[in-house]
Amino acid sequence: MIENKVALVTGSSSGIGLATAERLAEAGADIVLHGLMSQKEGMDLVSHLENEYNIRCMFSNADLRDPEAIAGLIDQALEGLGSIDILVNNAGIQHTEGAETFPLQKWNDILAINLSAAFLCMQKCLPGMRERQWGRIINIASVHGLVGSVNKSAYCASKHGLVGLTKVIALENAEFGISANCICPGWVDTPILAAQIEQFAQANQLSLEEAKRKIVTTKQPVPEMMAPSQIGDFIVFLCSDAAKTISGAALPIDGAWTAQ
Ligand code: NAD
Repeated sequence: MIENKVALVTGSSSGIGLATAERLAEAGADIVLHGLMSQKEGMDLVSHLENEYNIRCMFSNADLRDPEAIAGLIDQALEGLGSIDILVNNAGIQHTEGAETFPLQKWNDILAINLSAAFLCMQKCLPGMRERQWGRIINIASVHGLVGSVNKSAYCASKHGLVGLTKVIALENAEFGISANCICPGWVDTPILAAQIEQFAQANQLSLEEAKRKIVTTKQPVPEMMAPSQIGDFIVFLCSDAAKTISGAALPIDGAWTAQ
């Protein structure tokens, strides 16, 4: 199903996005890599994926806070690789602070990157998917698209918003061979957690390694961080024929966090 399809994975310079790009490339998809890194670093990753998996690949470092840059990213991808069949809206940021003092600029950035950018990317990719009667949209939400946690007002608002938005996109495109789903991960071992692990280590007088192990069990019954590649493997499954009627869902991969 995936061979010769083109996948755009936003935020694929690290973490879940990079692991997903690797898994999709391994399954034969051409890849549009994207994320905040230098052109040189991006092109090194392009060479790695092209050589390792014998696929076509390109890179953009468009800043997703800027709607014009988002339009440019999609245009550049369409021009370079001809279509976008699989769209993984993965780029995201976090800032933890109580709502009373939460900085407006952080609120605006989190909403822009985690929610509005996904909307704009879908809006630009849907016409081509409808034309070809095939599309897979996978939005990386979070358990925080399903439940709340203290100090995460903007993040929870953006991820709950993404879950709702994805349902609407699934409904509007159900008859066009396009599925749209959210994945809702618990703790995944990526750089986005660095600040939270540091704060937890300081507050509990732990080493960073200990803090990383212990922070998981503050929320998640299964006491281990997930590997980014687990999310990538699940995304490959969602792109398969077997998953074609899974749509409009918010799918937790969360070590039973939301079972409580
Ligand atoms: P990460 O920090 O490794 O990746 C974030 C990506 O977003 C990077 O590629 C970065 O360049 C990109 N990005 C950030 N700001 C950007 C901007 N202004 N413009 C363009 N790109 C930008 O973290 P990750 O954990 O791999 O995060 C990926 C997604 O997974 C996020 O949406 C995050 O909310 C979600 N998530 C992560 C976890 C976790 O525990 N790691 C849990 C649930 C959900």
